[in-house]
Amino acid sequence: MNSPKCLGVRIGSVEFGTSTFPVIAGPCSVESEEQFATSLSLAHAAGAACIRGGLKKMRTKPDSFQGLGRDGVPFVLKALKNNPLPFVSEITDPRDLEWMDEVVDAYQIGTRNMYNYDLLKEVGRCKKPVILKRAFSAYIDEWIHAAEYIARTGNTQIILCERGIRSFEPRLRNTLDLGAVAYLKANADFPVIVDPSHATGDRDFVEPMALAAAAAGADGLLIEAHPNPRLAYSDSQQALDFESLGRLMIRLEKLLNSQGRELYRNKGGVISFRKELHT
Ligand code: PEP
Ligand code: MN
Repeated sequence: MNSPKCLGVRIGSVEFGTSTFPVIAGPCSVESEEQFATSLSLAHAAGAACIRGGLKKMRTKPDSFQGLGRDGVPFVLKALKNNPLPFVSEITDPRDLEWMDEVVDAYQIGTRNMYNYDLLKEVGRCKKPVILKRAFSAYIDEWIHAAEYIARTGNTQIILCERGIRSFEPRLRNTLDLGAVAYLKANADFPVIVDPSHATGDRDFVEPMALAAAAAGADGLLIEAHPNPRLAYSDSQQALDFESLGRLMIRLEKLLNSQGRELYRNKGGVISFRKELHT
């Protein structure tokens, strides 16, 4: 399924773009010590390979929750010490590299910053892998050029993330472009993952689009999940609870196996949910 040119990218010990298929899961935002620690242990139990959580949020409305910023770092470090998983978080400003470096295993560049070339060059200078989301209005070629900005500055540890584009169709939050995934797998050197959460904006459609992404040849997924989705400070309507995530993982595993691929599993994950699915 993988393009022969695609080189693997490692986030911690988790490899993207080679034989196994990892899922990055977790809340849109780090909200509190308890919320993050609970999310981490539930993500771990569901079999997620990496945990996500925004420290700084790029919100459309200035009154919306903007993230805990640097104040969230001690919560994240404490939780990761008890329950280690690679941590993925969005960087919005090159000046944040200094404090984020202590806690982050991979930097996410959000849809609004794909065109922020100074930011791309700065993450290019660092040694950590970068998940580059597609701008919601970007042509595939512009997205690839954005990746080249990062690569040219010395960091080729890049994972592309399709998260939906703005189309004429307003019913769902965005339109998931799986054609782009198939195209990139045939034509680009970077692993490609899919975010079905921002692509749909509605938890009811996250699982079908996650499975469709795997069927289209994606190398992994980025999924928002929250211990209590209805209370999430950001992107509440699209967050899965962790039981739903666990069920999704089992269906995903079957689909991947039918393609001759394997779901990446952290030690301890998945098994507990398998029992539940069969009862
Ligand atoms: C996110 O992952 O929480 C996020 C803000 O994503 P995007 O930049 O794709 O909207
Ligand atoms: Mn979000």
